[in-house]
Amino acid sequence: MDSKEIRKRFLDFFERKQHEIVPSAPLVIHNDPTLMFTNAGMNQFKDYFLGNSDPSSKRIADTQKCLRVSGKHNDLEEVGLDTYHHTMFEMLGNWSFGDYFKKEAIQWAWELLTVEFGLPKDRLYASVFGGDEEDNMPLDQEALDLWKDIMPEERIVFGNKKDNFWEMGDTGPCGPCSEIHIDLRSDAEVAKIPGKDLVNNDHPQVVEIWNLVFMQFNRLANGSLQKLPAQHVDTGMGFERLAMAIQKKTSNYDTDVFTPLINFTADKAKVQYGQDEKTDIALRVISDHIRAIAFTIADGQLPSNNKAGYVIRRILRRAVRYGYTFLNFKEPFLYELLPVLAQQFDGVFPELVSQQDFVAKVIREEESSFLRTLDKGLTKLEVIKNQVENTTKVIDGKVAFELYDTYGFPFDLTSLIARENGLSVDEAAFKEEMQVQKNRSKQDAATSKGDWIEVKAIDEVVFLGYDAVKSTAQISKYREVEEKGKTLYHIVLDQTPFYAESGGQVGDTGFLADGDEKISIIDTKKENNLIIHFANQLPSNLEANFEAVVNTNKRLLTENNHSATHLLHAALRQVLGEHVQQKGSLVNEKILRFDFSHFAKMTDEEILKVERIVNAKIRENISLDEKRNVPIEEAKKLGAMALFGEKYGDFVRVITFDKAYSVELCGGTHVPATGHIGQFKIVSEGSVAAGVRRIEALTAESAEVYQLKQNEILQQVNELLNNPKDTVKAIESLVKEKQELTKMIEEINLEKGKQQKEILAQKIEKINAFNVLITEAELPNADTLKKIAFEFKNEVENLILIIAANIAGKPQIAVMFSDNLVNEHQLHAGNMVRDLAKEIQGGGGGQPFFATAGGNNLKGLSKVVTKAKELIESVTSHS
Ligand code: ATP
Ligand code: MG
Repeated sequence: MDSKEIRKRFLDFFERKQHEIVPSAPLVIHNDPTLMFTNAGMNQFKDYFLGNSDPSSKRIADTQKCLRVSGKHNDLEEVGLDTYHHTMFEMLGNWSFGDYFKKEAIQWAWELLTVEFGLPKDRLYASVFGGDEEDNMPLDQEALDLWKDIMPEERIVFGNKKDNFWEMGDTGPCGPCSEIHIDLRSDAEVAKIPGKDLVNNDHPQVVEIWNLVFMQFNRLANGSLQKLPAQHVDTGMGFERLAMAIQKKTSNYDTDVFTPLINFTADKAKVQYGQDEKTDIALRVISDHIRAIAFTIADGQLPSNNKAGYVIRRILRRAVRYGYTFLNFKEPFLYELLPVLAQQFDGVFPELVSQQDFVAKVIREEESSFLRTLDKGLTKLEVIKNQVENTTKVIDGKVAFELYDTYGFPFDLTSLIARENGLSVDEAAFKEEMQVQKNRSKQDAATSKGDWIEVKAIDEVVFLGYDAVKSTAQISKYREVEEKGKTLYHIVLDQTPFYAESGGQVGDTGFLADGDEKISIIDTKKENNLIIHFANQLPSNLEANFEAVVNTNKRLLTENNHSATHLLHAALRQVLGEHVQQKGSLVNEKILRFDFSHFAKMTDEEILKVERIVNAKIRENISLDEKRNVPIEEAKKLGAMALFGEKYGDFVRVITFDKAYSVELCGGTHVPATGHIGQFKIVSEGSVAAGVRRIEALTAESAEVYQLKQNEILQQVNELLNNPKDTVKAIESLVKEKQELTKMIEEINLEKGKQQKEILAQKIEKINAFNVLITEAELPNADTLKKIAFEFKNEVENLILIIAANIAGKPQIAVMFSDNLVNEHQLHAGNMVRDLAKEIQGGGGGQPFFATAGGNNLKGLSKVVTKAKELIESVTSHS
């Protein structure tokens, strides 16, 4: 059974059990401060478990793209070394939201595995939560009894809190779980050691395939457990592990999920998989990591220097490094896997197929730039190697850390290279540096949240902000938050006109009023789907009927920028082509910033064209056509340009400014008609990443002020030029005139220099074997001084030249010695000039044979001459 068939059978099975089948949510998460990437199937349903919103169906099943490379679940360092952990993997799951519970979940899991997929019953084990004294929780008797109906007791194991009790976070929904493990060893091995002894023991062929979580409690901030009003089921099965079991393999990498990628890479490296441990690991790392990298980029997260972007960059670098070190790939290679990957997921995750070229280009660019860094790092390591080779033979931990931090060299690579050169690395010192950095970032992120305290029970927050900027409101719940030593309050209202930051648009500010008391709302953000108002203090009467008032000025300016962003997006597609896709945006009251995929710098004409289209659309005063609560699937059918980040179950708004011009999915707030925007002006265009450009633009009064300033500059220029008829011509002739004058001056200076040189030549004194020229002179510029010094050096042997020059009122010294004198008499022009420069309150330096210095005290020039003569005397008199 190939993997496509397995995935399909899983979904069909649960569809027959009345589950709604939904698409995977994107890998990259935008509205959850606790999570950067989807790391489990349940993430996209968090709001249902928290009671923030209701699911469209009580039974759901899907396959979810997951990434476990940061935070609580981080498998990155295992990946490639073992054969069953991946960075990106698919989690097959079925859910019950307050519907069925343990009985159905366990029975269906068993039926699917043993009947539908025909896995051998005697090789399957179940684990059950064994209870926890500290939490005062008994063993999960209900699950135990259900399993006992299915399998003999000797194949049931008990697990502790770590393995068999699942929690969403420090607080929130949680409950016991039951895992299903499979023993894939040969009969001979099974005869030697029973599978039961290997369950949960990190054996690569006795692995967990499915986890059934039974949510029945809510964990409070003080650590205690509360029973949930409705009980839920959340299951997650590793698709690649399931494929391994069904296809009777002993490694995920031997299934058809990975073999095409491994074969392609092995061919390219001219090696064979299964021959050598080191190259095998490299092949596994590459075939795993390319999936993580490609899918996150397709879901809108580009590699970058911080947060989620940095995580992707690190995964990519890990893959490149393994290829570089073990497969001898010295040129970009990962991007070549894209066609193989896209073909595998054709019809499963369409987002990869449709963006294949873009994703490949981004990866290729990242690879080249990292390969360059890698080269630089190796050069640096070479220098360090030479330094310690004949001394301690130990590379400093600080150096190893710098290599890691700046050049992306993990510790094992540095120590590998060190070992190959007979050196070692101070690992303890390296770890210390790591810890220092970790502590630093921990401090930066330190926040602590109290429990929500309920004031008024509500079903769901009502958002009024599309129609109003003001409303009555009551506090539904609040909590205290400690952030970097400051206390803040998070307030949730029963209904609110405040727009919460999302889709690039900043959150509203404003206030809550109760009689004379006004509480400032300093920001509004979303946590999952919950709208949270940020305040520095709480109102004195929490149960009051408040008036919630948005800062309208800021909101309206922001709306101008947001609607203009849509007009810009459409104009870019007209001018540059249909490949233009939004890659990020920021819209606030001051500016709009729009990132989009495009591979070349925009020309001035293109920018102008885009500006003119947008301004024409503004003048057309197109009315806003807004459709709310459109199911995502339907919206896509309307031809709306989807932004990344939507997921199943989202109800979206479709924002249209002229059906034929701009139709977008957007949750933001907009102008009622484009005329409100007034005007539009692009102020910059540049690159942010490989294949991604950024435009910054202004609208309304800001655009006007910007243009007025430009006009003012022009006016000032005209005034300076005495208001010519044609400004450009006037400047052109000024420039030309300047060029001619400069040339003339150069010629005059050249002539002057010649004359000066002749005068100076006569001042050369012959002292013993030396030709000495120590004198003051007046010269037109520093170049002439230097030129004269070098000419004398070529023309006069045994030269000692020290000129204290007055250059247009500024003192300057030049010292020049014939090369032979430098050696024979240990002369050093650089040292001497520094000494002499003291007389003119200046400084300088240079080489042993030639040096110059500048200064501030013109009067000191004569002293320079006197001092120079003294210094030189000791040299000239001794031969
Ligand atoms: P393990 O102990 O093997 O790391 P887990 O306890 O972290 O697994 P869960 O969080 O319960 O796993 O996830 C549910 C299922 O997802 C697991 O039963 C497994 O099949 C699969 N899974 C978990 N982590 C990975 C991974 N890194 N790569 C592939 N599959 C995974
Ligand atoms: Mg794990």
